[in-house]
Formats: sequence, C-alpha cells, structure tokens
Amino acid sequence: MNDFMSHMIRSELEDVVGREHVSVSESDRLTHSVDYFWLSRLWEDRSRTMPLADIVVYPGSADEVSRILVIANYYKIPVFPWGGGAGSQGGALPVKGGILLDMKRMDRVIRFDERSMCVTAEAGINYMQLEWYVNEKGYSLMHYPSSLTCSTLGGFLAHNGIGVLSTKYGKIDDQCLNLEMAVPSGRILRSAPVPKHSSGPGILHMFIGSEGTLGVITQATMKIFKRPETRRFRAFLFPDVPAGLAFGRDLLQEFRPSIMRLYNEEETRSIIKSILGVEKDGAFMNIAVEGNAEIVEIEEKIALRMCAERGGMDLGSDYGEKWWDSRVTFFYPDHALDLPKMFGTLDTVATYSNIEKIYWALKETIESFSGVRFIAHFSHWYEWGVMIYDRFIIEDPPQDPEEAMRLHNEIWNAGIRAVLENGGVVNDHHGVGLKLGRLMKEQYGESMIALEALKKELDPNGIMNPFKLGL
Ligand SMILES: Cc1cc2nc3c(=O)[nH]c(=O)nc-3n(C[C@H](O)[C@H](O)[C@H](O)COP(=O)(O)OP(=O)(O)OC[C@H]3O[C@@H](n4cnc5c(N)ncnc54)[C@H](O)[C@@H]3O)c2cc1C
Repeated sequence: MNDFMSHMIRSELEDVVGREHVSVSESDRLTHSVDYFWLSRLWEDRSRTMPLADIVVYPGSADEVSRILVIANYYKIPVFPWGGGAGSQGGALPVKGGILLDMKRMDRVIRFDERSMCVTAEAGINYMQLEWYVNEKGYSLMHYPSSLTCSTLGGFLAHNGIGVLSTKYGKIDDQCLNLEMAVPSGRILRSAPVPKHSSGPGILHMFIGSEGTLGVITQATMKIFKRPETRRFRAFLFPDVPAGLAFGRDLLQEFRPSIMRLYNEEETRSIIKSILGVEKDGAFMNIAVEGNAEIVEIEEKIALRMCAERGGMDLGSDYGEKWWDSRVTFFYPDHALDLPKMFGTLDTVATYSNIEKIYWALKETIESFSGVRFIAHFSHWYEWGVMIYDRFIIEDPPQDPEEAMRLHNEIWNAGIRAVLENGGVVNDHHGVGLKLGRLMKEQYGESMIALEALKKELDPNGIMNPFKLGL
C-alpha cells in the first residue's frame, strides 16, 4: 500500500473506532505476527521476520466491525481476525499485510439467561473471564481446553475447539446455541436462535470452524451447566493401546464419562511417569465420572467391572486427581514442547474401525523420518469413534530455517496423508489455518466446491483471512 493511501485509509478506520484504537506501531505489528504455529516461532527465532499487518485495529462493537469490513472490502484490503493469538495453525497470521483485527476490546457479557441455561457474550471475551463470570452465578461453561486463559470465545468458535471434559459436555460446536457474524458487505448475519431445528441446513454450523475466512464472529450464546455434585477420578493401566481402545469403545456404549484419556506406551513411559509418577509399563488411562452422586456411584462401578473384564488394572483415584491438578502443567515449562525442539500435533478423529489403522500408519510414517519421536494419546470419545492426539518431536532440527521448514512440512504432509488414506480427517480440533490449508482438497475432493461457493458468496473479493482453510 502506498504511503498516501495508507494514511487515507487509516483516517477512515480512525473515524470508525477512534484514533486510540488504531495502531501502526512496530511493537503492535510485531506482537501480532507470531502465534503458536511452530514455523512462525522458528522464523522469528532465526531472525527472519514474519509478515506484518499494515494496521492493527481494535474494534469495540459489532457495528464497528461491520464498518471496518465495508472499508476493507471497498479498498480490497485483507482482514485478519485475531483473538488470543494462541492458535497452533497460523490461522490468525497476517500473511498478506492489510488490517489485523484484534477482537479483545469486545469483551462484554450481553445476557445471562438462567432459565434457558445460556449466556451471550461478545466474541473477544477471554474464555477464562467468561467462565469466572458464570462460576460466580454457580455454573460452568464446561469448556476446559489447556489454552483457556489465553484464548477468546470467537477464537474457539472459529477453529471449533475442544476441552478436556468434551466426552460428556461436547465440543464447542455442541455448546453453542447461536452466533452472529459480520461479513465483508457490512451485513451482520445471525444463525437461528436455537441450534436444533428443521429450518433448512444449520447456518450456525456453516460459521463455526470457518476460521475467519467468511467473516468476523461478533457474539455468541453458549450453554451453561450446573456444576457437578461430584467428580470422581479413576486411573487404569491396560497392557497396550488396542486393549485400552476396546475398553473405551465399550464404556461409551454404557455412559459418558467427562474425561477419558488413554496414553500410548511411549507417553506412559515419558510424560505420565514424569508428571504423575506412574512407574509402570503399558497404556495408562485416566477417566472422570461426574454429576449426580448416586449416578456417579453406579457409573464408577460399571467402569471398574469393565476394566477388570478387559484385562486392565485399577490404579485407584490418586493418579487421576493428580492428573486433573496438573492438566495445564503439560503445557508449561519443563513439560511444554518448544524451540529449539521441532514438534507438531497431528490430531485427527475417526471411527473405531479406522482409528487403530490410523494409529499404526501414523506411527510408522512419523518414525520413518530419522531422529523423530512419536507419542500419542486418545482423548475425546464418541459412541462411534475417538480422536487421536499424536505428536512428533525432533530434539535437534536443522539450524537453517529453510531446511527446517522443508522437513516440518514433509512430516506434516506424510502424516496427514497417512491419516486421510485410513479414514481420518485433516484435523480434529486445532483447525486448519495456514499450516494445513493445502491438504483440504485432498480430504474433500470435489466436495470442496461447497466451501468455495460459500466463500465466494460471502467474501467475493477474498479479503477475509486469505490463504487459510485452503480458501
Ligand atoms: C498451550 C496451548 C494449549 C492448547 N490447547 C488446546 C486445547 O486443549 N483445545 C483446543 O481446541 N485448542 C487448544 N489450543 C489451540 C488454541 O487454543 C486455539 O487454536 C486458540 O486458542 C483459539 O483461540 P484464540 O482466541 O487464541 O484464536 P487465535 O489464535 O487468535 O485465532 C484462531 C483462528 O480463529 C480466527 N478468529 C479469531 N477470532 C475470531 C473471530 N472473532 N471471528 C472470526 N474468526 C476469528 C483467527 O483468524 C484464526 O483463524 C492450545 C493452544 C495452546 C497455545
């Protein structure tokens, strides 16, 4: 953008949000150029600056977002919605310059509806703040991802995130009743007031997971839940992953625990040993059952009986309680993966018929690269299948950033292709972003035209978050 037009457009944006809410400072642009995408961190680490936005804008209302989009659409300037910047897929990165739309000023709770068990808030609200708000009233959102404290409502909806209690309370798309999204024409679109209906295909689910490529989510209504009367933990040890998977599948036919995490032998030997102190070989599993105390009592009995019948060992409740207390420890030093290591989480989800094939195919594919370690656990369970959260780790990646990028992308391509060939999907809950956009057509084939048509209609000039989600 030339200097003159840059100032002209800046003054239009200032007219919408006020001068104090528009920034071109280097520090603002730099801090909005790196998220949790490993390659963006590598690039900065090797003194290779990531692409910067031209202008950072902090809108204060849906109306302001709509007016900003009208300006951007007129001048055909890219717009990159930014929540907490905690995404791991490079989804919010301003890879084409333009306007970085930081949503965090939009942090108000709009409505608390105790009778209908829901709360409506602006999309920029930090999710922990929203959780505290409903906690004060005696409820919980029951969405507990490890990034709860550093992510926003809009960010979680945009990439369709998941929390540790999802097996009972659902993914964020199960928890959202309705939302509002501003699109480049300036219109503010609203989904139906409730998520379950037969008034045509659900608009809500067309917008959740759209990763800022169609418009900007400005507010949403989320379910709230009564806090459980009791929450009990139980740790089990299975001889191997297939035995643990069979137990989990069968348990889901009986009832839904809130947590069920099955760690493979490698992760049991490493992370579970170092954080929980479990000194045993096999596949460690932690489950939590919660809710009404009488029902929990029965569910725990069923779980114990089924574990024994399937060759599992009951390790009692202490490890599970320790796991709950340490659930974010996994993401803090010394346990968090970070530079100088190279790492990636290839989370996917599949039916029970396919998940084991995916596990073995991924393990073989990832371990075929020299010096790569593969660890995995299974965390979000359904009646029909389960997700796998598997990671590759390289202790000593190439120093040269271009070589490191090449290796990183080769591993991702090979891993995701192994997943797709065996009935999985590009991603379970971290989203697609910049990192995996190229693989979307390999998953969807011809069906990709449905997403492309939606994009063309809502964002004809292609200004919304270009190069993300393969759109
Ligand atoms: C330590 C750590 C642990 C994590 N654990 C989990 C986990 O357990 N579960 C999980 O699901 N994820 C997890 N993640 C991933 C991360 O939480 C999410 O991808 C991210 O937090 C989403 O929220 P955000 O506000 O940070 O979004 P950002 O990173 O800012 O953006 C993510 C995407 O959403 C878009 N976006 C943001 N706000 C809006 C909006 N209002 N309208 C439209 N588009 C928007 C952006 O353009 C981008 O495409 C973890 C990340 C970290 C760093």
